[in-house]
Amino acid sequence: MSIPLIVCKLGGSVLTRKRDGLPELDRPALRRIAGELRRALAERALRLVLIHGVGAYGHSLVAETGIAEGLRLPEDLPAFLRAHLSVAGLNLRLAEFFHEAGLPILPLSPAALFELDRKAIVTAHLAPIEFALETLAAIPLLHGDMVPDRTLGGAVLSGDLILAYLSRVLRADLALLGTDVDGVFDRDPRLDPTARLLERLPDPQNPAADVSGSTATDVTGGMGGKLAALARELSGIPAWIFNLEAPDRLFRLLTGRSCPGTRIG
Ligand code: ADP
Repeated sequence: MSIPLIVCKLGGSVLTRKRDGLPELDRPALRRIAGELRRALAERALRLVLIHGVGAYGHSLVAETGIAEGLRLPEDLPAFLRAHLSVAGLNLRLAEFFHEAGLPILPLSPAALFELDRKAIVTAHLAPIEFALETLAAIPLLHGDMVPDRTLGGAVLSGDLILAYLSRVLRADLALLGTDVDGVFDRDPRLDPTARLLERLPDPQNPAADVSGSTATDVTGGMGGKLAALARELSGIPAWIFNLEAPDRLFRLLTGRSCPGTRIG
C-alpha cells in the first residue's frame, strides 16, 4: 500500500499579518504550525504537499491594479512582476522558516508550473512536484501566484484552486484547507457572532450558506472563492475546511483524527 498523500493549504491570513495589512510573517503562528507538522510526520508516514496563501503580501497590489482580471501589456507588466516577486519572496521566507524548523521543504513557484485559460488550469507541469514527493521524500511548498493565462495574458491562480486541482490529479487521500475561522458557517462569522458552523457540506457547489468575500483585502474571494475552487476541481476527494489558528487541529487532521471543522463531500 502506498504512503497516504495529503495536500494542505495554509491560509495566508494565519501565516502573515494579513488583517493588519502588514507583509510580515506571523512567527509565533509559524512556529506552532511547524511543530504540528513535525509531530504529525513523526507519528505517521505521510506524503505531504503544502500550499500557502498570500496573506498581506500581494492582495492589495493586485486589487489596486486590476491585474487579477487580466493583463494589459505593456502597462501592466511592472504590477504583474511586482505581485509575483512579492509572493515568490514570501514563499522563500516561509521555506527558510520551515527548513530551519527541521522540515524537508522544497519551494516551487506556480508561475513556472501552471498555465491558465480564462482562469481555469489547462496545463500543469507535475514532474517537479512528483520529484519532491517520490525521489526526495520532501514537502513541495507552492503558493497563490500570478501565472500565464492563454486568453487574459496573465491572471491570479489562487492557492485554493491549486489545492483542489493537485488533490484531484495527484489522487490525494485528503485535501485540507486551513483558514482563520472554524469552517464554513451559514453566514460570515466575523460579521455575525450567532452564525452556525456547518459540519458537513455534501456539495460545495450548493453551500446553502452566505459565503461572501473576506473581510481582509482579498482578490481571491474569501470563503466563497474557496468553495468555488473546491466545487470546480476537487471531484470526489474528501476535504476539510478547518481553523489553522486553533492549536492542534492541523496535527489532528494529518494524523487521521477528527476536530471541529467543515467536512466537504
Ligand atoms: P485565507 O487567507 O485563510 O485564505 P480568507 O480571508 O480568504 O482566508 O477567507 C476566510 C474568510 O472568509 C473568513 O475570515 C470570513 O470572514 C470569510 N467568510 C465569509 N463568509 C463566510 C462563511 N459563510 N463562513 C465562514 N467564513 C466566511
